[in-house]
Order: sequence, then structure tokens, then C-alpha cells
Amino acid sequence: MDVLDARLVLKRSFGFEEFLDGQEGIVSEILSGRDGMVVMPTGGGKSLCYQLPAMCLEGVTIVVSPLIALMKDQVDALEEKEIPATLINSTLTHAEQRERIARMRAGEYKLVYVAPERFRAEGFVAAMREVKVGLFAIDEAHCLSQWGHDFRPDYMRLGQARAALGNPQCVAFTATATADVRKDIIGVLELEEPFQTVTGFARPNLSFNITAVEKAASKFKRVKAIVEEHKTGIVYCATRKRVEEVAETLNSWGVKSIAYHGGMTEEQREATQNKFISKKADVAVATNAFGMGIDRSDVRFVVHFEIPGSVEAFYQEAGRAGRDGEAAWCELLFNYADTRTQEFFIDGANPGMPLIRDVYQYFLNAAGANHEVHVGIDEVKDAVGAKNGMAVSSAISVLARNGLIERFDVKGQRMRGTRLRRPEVLASGMDLDEDALEEKELRDRSKLQAMVQMCYGAGCRQQAILEYFGEMDAEVCGACDVCCSDYGTESRDTSENEDMIVRKVLSGVARMSWKRRGEWEGRFGRGRIVQMLTGSKSQEVMKAALNELTTYGILKVEGTAFLNELMHALHDAGLLVTQRGEFPLVTLTKRGEEAMKGDGRYRIVWPQARKESMVKDGGTGGVNGETLGELAPFDGTLFTMLKDLRNDLAKQDGVPSYVVFTNKTLEAFARLRPKSVEAGLRIKGVGPAKAEKYLEPFLATIGEFEG
Ligand code: ADP
Ligand code: ZN
Repeated sequence: MDVLDARLVLKRSFGFEEFLDGQEGIVSEILSGRDGMVVMPTGGGKSLCYQLPAMCLEGVTIVVSPLIALMKDQVDALEEKEIPATLINSTLTHAEQRERIARMRAGEYKLVYVAPERFRAEGFVAAMREVKVGLFAIDEAHCLSQWGHDFRPDYMRLGQARAALGNPQCVAFTATATADVRKDIIGVLELEEPFQTVTGFARPNLSFNITAVEKAASKFKRVKAIVEEHKTGIVYCATRKRVEEVAETLNSWGVKSIAYHGGMTEEQREATQNKFISKKADVAVATNAFGMGIDRSDVRFVVHFEIPGSVEAFYQEAGRAGRDGEAAWCELLFNYADTRTQEFFIDGANPGMPLIRDVYQYFLNAAGANHEVHVGIDEVKDAVGAKNGMAVSSAISVLARNGLIERFDVKGQRMRGTRLRRPEVLASGMDLDEDALEEKELRDRSKLQAMVQMCYGAGCRQQAILEYFGEMDAEVCGACDVCCSDYGTESRDTSENEDMIVRKVLSGVARMSWKRRGEWEGRFGRGRIVQMLTGSKSQEVMKAALNELTTYGILKVEGTAFLNELMHALHDAGLLVTQRGEFPLVTLTKRGEEAMKGDGRYRIVWPQARKESMVKDGGTGGVNGETLGELAPFDGTLFTMLKDLRNDLAKQDGVPSYVVFTNKTLEAFARLRPKSVEAGLRIKGVGPAKAEKYLEPFLATIGEFEG
């Protein structure tokens, strides 16, 4: 059957003129007989991808779907199109089930929807053996991943169910696009060399922006500018305290806003949420507890006040902007120091075996003769001497999930009681899956790491997000901060000689880092690394015995200034990463490690080019007391402030922003920080006319920034 026939079926049986994005490729892969893994967002048109092949393949297509109500709707819709379909789930009597299975055997249906728990029944599986199954389609396949948000144990059994059906062709469908979940699905269903399609996740109406900010004050400045320009939106904060602080600040500016977080009562949350939905408030300031149920399509901006814990969370939250398809603005205010809050959450969600044991031991000790304990989390926390209350709650959840304890409501009290379910089990004899617990913690940490790396990335934001989810062929979006600035457009491949220098730097950084559990950890700052590479004899270098490294002094001829710049460029190119806020330590990223080993597929803004582009030809004098060769470090906050100022001026004058100053000129301002008109005039892109018209406010902003 070829594509033409598929189009015919699309029109005749389903009444659609055209395939939606991605459908045609998926249908033709399925018709070629391969196993497959399809990831498509909700509403993308997944059902058709198995319903159409069902019409063309021999035998019946079994669709496993977890939601009984949806099943019914689907079958009704198919019957309306005169497609022979039915469903089998627990709402049927045994007699009805038997009858439908018999009709399946007789080949009367093209599609049969089956609830996953049916495969638990031996009798059902045995009866199904004689049915000719053409395709085994698993809808909402993420339900079989323990890392998904919607785990259903019955889904774990579908691999065996498939085997029992004689291993028919199997295709899994889900809207959850993470690599972890995909891997689980392929493993459990034992998909054989499946085609994998991730499609439809791009949000072309959203502009993604990541802004480096160092001070809280600059964050508020950005929020103010964004609220003024875009009016309606959501500000996500990492903590309750920050939610309240930001909401208060917004209200003090006269912006109608609500605060929303998990510490509020159910009624309070509902009331505030309704205020936002009914448009009585323009801005919602919230933790990630907010959003599941919000149905407001005209959200024009989403700001992340701090870095979220994963790209998944980021995209889901940012994606609440622009549901109506109109342009919307997403901005993440990035400060590396904020990752600590996320690390604290990860610690809280992953209590670790020792704490789990301590908490269990505490319950064993404290339980009365009825095996019950009535205490709040705080008391448990104090009793076991834990620092992180969240970790204690998580430990309790782990114990409950594993059937060692159960929690119950105590009449007339707010706290919940705990009952030992297997009081004979000692703390030393708990049989918890420690590997799984450890693996989950590692996954949480690497998700955060991926989010951090995205913030340091120098490529199109939308493309980076889609790549993370497995959609590899996305175009650059043309709307994100990277696409819209010319900052970074000079990035290019390196020559052989340049690549050698890069690899020397990276090797030096590797020798000055730890590698633990496959993750790089920095031990030194940029300055010290450059000292080592140039063979400095300073005390600090000697004390740390850096002169004994094989990379000591290997880039002496390149000089300190150049190497400083190169380190910045490697950073921007995503090969190096800076860890920890107040004491920045530099280490390799995964891509950096690859490049060190010889993978030349990276692009970089080579420092020389940057230097030349910044200063006018023949400029030899110092700017700001510095020699031109020694460029000051780039400050993202100042750059952003200058950009805002430039955009305001451009708007005032009704001209495109580059007519005021280009981004490259602003970058030079941010690096060289001119304080006088003469100093400003030495920067490329600042002529006498522009200087007269625009320079003054920029000098003032720089002065203000330096305070
Ligand atoms: P998903 O399961 O991915 O959430 P559905 O399969 O329910 O999405 O499809 C979403 C909507 O798109 C449905 O109303 C469906 O009828 C419609 N649809 C699917 N394919 C097409 C098509 N080729 N042309 C027009 N509408 C389509
Ligand atoms: Zn882009």
C-alpha cells in the first residue's frame, strides 16, 4: 500500500482532506511493518496514526488505552464513520466480553479498544490467543514508565501481553517527550528497532529568552519591563517566599496580581486561581503548583524568576503562554546561584537510604501496641535530626509506597497518623529497591544539569528545547533571544590549529576538575585555570601543585588576555560551564568532554574576531584605563540593561533598534564600560552623530550600574 492509497483512506473513511503535521510519515512507517514509538503533543492527532493503518492492515488492531470514558468516545466516533470498532473493559459483563472476543476472532472488527487491566486476567489472554492481531497500539504509553507522572502498574504487563498475542507489530504513542520515558517504553514493550518520531512540539508563536542576571534588583527591572510591555502573564518562582515577595512588589507598582502556592489552603488557591482565570487579575505569581487547571488562553508572557528543575518543567510552564496562537513572550531570568534551590528540592525528593531507615526506625520505636503513631512531620524531623523536612516527607512516602506503613486521617486533627503494616520488619531488613532510588536521584540531577546547560547554550533556544525532547530536525525559530541578536552570529567552525588550542584548554580544565558518577565537577575558577595554562609561578598555583600537571604552561605563547577571552567563548559555545554562584568553578560540559576527545562539531566565536569587531581601526588608547588588548569580562546584566534602554529609545524615535546601536556595540559598552564621550567614541559603531543623539543615557546607565 502506498501513500496515495493512504490518502484515499484518509478521505473516504475519515473524511479528512489532508494529513496533519507528521501523520503521513508515521502512517507510512506503520504500514511498512515496523515497530514504532510516536511522541506527539495532545491534540496532535495521534489516534488517526493507528486508526488509519488499522483499516489497511490484516487482522484487528488492538488499542490499549487507560481511560474508559475516552475509549467510549473514540468507539462512538468510529462507529459514526461506519468503521467496525468496539471496546472491552470492566464495564462489560463476562458474557458480553466473550461475545465480543468471538466476533473479533471472526474478523468482524477493525479496531478494538482494550483497558490495560484486562491483560491481568488469564482467561482473557488465553481467549485472545486465537485472534489475529495486526497491530498492537499502546496509547498513553508513558503510563508504563515509573519516571512518568502517570505510572500504572498494569502497563508494565503489556510486554508480556504482546508476547502472548504472538508478538504482533507494536507501536507506542505518548505526549510525554523525554528520552527517559521513551527508553522505558521501548524496553518494556520490547520494541524491535522501532522508528521513532517526535513531532509537533514546536511553539512558533512563542519567543524564548534566557537572560543572565546577577542581582535581584535586575530581575525586578526585567519583570517590570516585561509586565509593562506584555500586560497579562505568569511569573513562576521557585519558593513560596519569593512568590509573596514578587507579588507584593507587583502590587506596589499598581499591577493587579495574585499570589499562588502550595502553602495556601485549597479554598484560597481556588479563589485566587479563579481571579486570574476570570481576568480580574492580570498577573499570576506562582510556584509550579499553579497551572494544571488554568484555562486562560490569552497569557502573553511567562517569566521564570529562577531556573526551573528540568527542561520538561520549563517547557511545560513557559508553554502556558500564547495558547491562543498569538505571539507571546517567555523569559527565564538565569542566575547560576539559583540552582541551589533546585538542588535543595532534589535533596528533599530523594531522602537516601540512611534517612529512610532512620525514619522507619523512629516509627518502630514510637508505635504503640496498636502499631500506630500520631505525630506531625516536624516531630519526626526533629526526632531523627534531619535538616530537610521535605526529605522526611519523601522518606515517609517511600515507606508507604513499599507497603511498610500506611497513613490515615486522625479524626479532629490536622496531622495524619501512621500505622505500621508489617511491624515484624526491622529497619535493617527492609527490602527496598535501593538501585531504583539511586537511579531516580541521578536522573533528577542530570535533568537539572541539562536545564543549566541550556541556559549557557549559544544556539537557538527553541531548537535546543526540541532537540532535548528528541525532535532533531527543527529549524531555527527566528524569534528567540539568540536568533534575534547578532551576538553570537559570528560563531563558526575552528581551523585545525584553533581546534588544537581548544583541546589543550579543555584538557587543562579536565585536569583541574573532578569526575564523579559521570558528572564533571569544577574545582578552580577561570583565573586559576588560565594561570596554569600559561605556566604562572604564582603562589596559589604552586600551592595547589598545578605546575605538576602535564598541561602546565602549554599555552604560554597565547597569553593571559587571549586565554581569558577564549575561556569566555568556550563558555558561550557550551563547552565549559561555571558551577556555584559566589565562588564560580569552571568545568567541562558533556559537549566539552566530547570536543576534548576530538569531536570537532562545535562552533565558537573566536576571540580575535570579537576583539577586532569591538574597537575602531587604529584605536590604541585605553578605554576606561584598560589597554584594548585586555578586554573586560562581559556582564549579562549590564548588557540587558543597555539593551532595554536601546529598545526604549528606538521605540521613542520610531526606528528599528539597530539604528540606535547594534547589539555588538552594546556588547562593547558592556565589556569596556566607557565613562566619557571620548571613550564612547572610540567604540566601533559610535559616530559623532549617534554619540550626540544617544550616548549620554548609555554612559549614565553604565555609571549607575557600577554605582
Ligand atoms: P491526540 O490523541 O493526539 O490528542 P486526537 O487523535 O484526539 O489527538 O486528534 C485531535 C483532533 O484532530 C481530533 O478532533 C481529530 O478528529 C482531529 N484530526 C486528526 N487528524 C486529522 C486530520 N488529518 N485532519 C483534520 N483533523 C484531524
Ligand atoms: Zn531561535
